[in-house]
Amino acid sequence: MTPLLPKNDPLKSMSRRDALKMMALSPVAASVLASTGTPSDLEASASNATGRVVIVGGGAGALMTLARLRRALANPDIIIIAPNDKHVYQPGQIFVAAGEYSPEDIIFDNSGYIGKSVTWIKDEAATFDPDNNKLTTKGGKEVEYDYLIVAAGAQYHYEQIQGLTADMIGTNGISSVYLSDLAAGTAEGGRITHEWFLALKEAAKTSNPRVLCTQPSTPLKCGGAPQKILYLGDDFLRQEKLSADFIFATAGEKLFAFPEIENAIQKVQKGYGNITNKFGHDLVSIDAEKKIATFLHKYQIQGEYDKDLEEYDMIDKEESVEIGYDFIHISPPTGASEAIVNSPLSWQKGNAKGWLEVDRETLQHRRYKNVFGIGDVCGIPIGKTGGSARHQAPVVIKNLISVMESKKPEALYDGYTVCPLKVSYGKIIMAEFNYDGLAPSFPLDPAEPRWIWWAFDLYMLQPMYRYLMLNGLM
Ligand SMILES: Cc1cc2nc3c(=O)[nH]c(=O)nc-3n(C[C@H](O)[C@H](O)[C@H](O)COP(=O)(O)OP(=O)(O)OC[C@H]3O[C@@H](n4cnc5c(N)ncnc54)[C@H](O)[C@@H]3O)c2cc1C
Repeated sequence: MTPLLPKNDPLKSMSRRDALKMMALSPVAASVLASTGTPSDLEASASNATGRVVIVGGGAGALMTLARLRRALANPDIIIIAPNDKHVYQPGQIFVAAGEYSPEDIIFDNSGYIGKSVTWIKDEAATFDPDNNKLTTKGGKEVEYDYLIVAAGAQYHYEQIQGLTADMIGTNGISSVYLSDLAAGTAEGGRITHEWFLALKEAAKTSNPRVLCTQPSTPLKCGGAPQKILYLGDDFLRQEKLSADFIFATAGEKLFAFPEIENAIQKVQKGYGNITNKFGHDLVSIDAEKKIATFLHKYQIQGEYDKDLEEYDMIDKEESVEIGYDFIHISPPTGASEAIVNSPLSWQKGNAKGWLEVDRETLQHRRYKNVFGIGDVCGIPIGKTGGSARHQAPVVIKNLISVMESKKPEALYDGYTVCPLKVSYGKIIMAEFNYDGLAPSFPLDPAEPRWIWWAFDLYMLQPMYRYLMLNGLM
């Protein structure tokens, strides 16, 4: 492997786990903590507003809001409905796949974050009745609320790919770094994908395998993850002086939404020299025995010239395309949690149908004003990432408290999100953007692949997430 750290770097002689612990105590982490206010500062200005707040979900968004809400209210009356005792640090699944983390580095206990002063119903919300301010859990318990925060995340639909079920992942050359059961607090996708990397390496010693990496047409949490696996998989072989034919088959029309980042990625791909992109290709079925993937290929052709409009008509076409493979990495079609999709809380039509209908800036429900949303579940036009949830949490809490105090919600989320695109072992393009465009936090060219972002992501982010973000301290 390429050395990840400079020669004689003290971190080199440490285990990854020790490095993670040490970084949590580092001056950088400490300065971030200092700049975000201590719990007692925040408690000093706690609101006397009353009312029962129910939080649905037990992931990043739920815990970030819970921690802030406990401090924001002088007399909190909070119920959290979350099935999971364990919490998965999902961004770490990529580093597990890469062989940089072990699976236990990304699983934390939820109990320490939820705490004893909060009523924890270990179940899932099954139905919502927002007209009567109540919901029912899977176990049949009716829960009433004055205010509701929905943080139920996203749900994978591997079964929408004909011929595929989640239990086939890890067999027959099939992998998916996404694979997890968040209700059970487990995540197998990283480990399985690392084994897939190793199997790929063995195959590349005697042949030139074909590797397919797919991206669906639905919104996807961490939309950059399919490409992260593509480049890390390719670089994993390159380090061993091995090669394979990689195909990136995406339902999308480009590699990244912003031209600066798109150009940078194209440069990265040229450097590899063995990657073919297939745009407009949506994986619809797979024959796992024969190793054939079938895509719905959508494209346009030029039609007649329209004299009035002075342009050519564009005619939509689609065809079925079969691609044989030796190895396939599948990023699953994704929707909101089923309970949200089937509830009056979801968008009933349009692009975001099925996702939570919140205002993209205030994160307040557009029809039920005592309901707020955070994280992947929100039907808003921005990437579904932990970075988004981190920037949404203070807005949700500020606006919720305003509503509880009968004031207008005025805090606005600017759409911040982040994609730390791992383009090789040791290099990341840190693409940060919001509703208006690229929004780098540091005065560095965001399109430049940098080692510093790799080191930051690998060593700093996990402890920052674990000790600061989930405790609502940044
Ligand atoms: C492979 C991968 C790589 C990623 N990389 C990055 C990255 O580099 N940077 C980044 O910022 N983000 C990344 N993300 C995305 C990030 O992990 C998510 O965006 C973030 O976890 C969203 O938080 P959330 O609370 O909305 O959802 P989650 O953290 O997924 O939590 C949802 C919770 O809701 C619970 N739940 C579901 N349905 C119900 C219900 N009906 N009732 C009660 N509870 C329910 C689930 O059990 C779970 O606890 C990555 C994700 C993956 C999978």
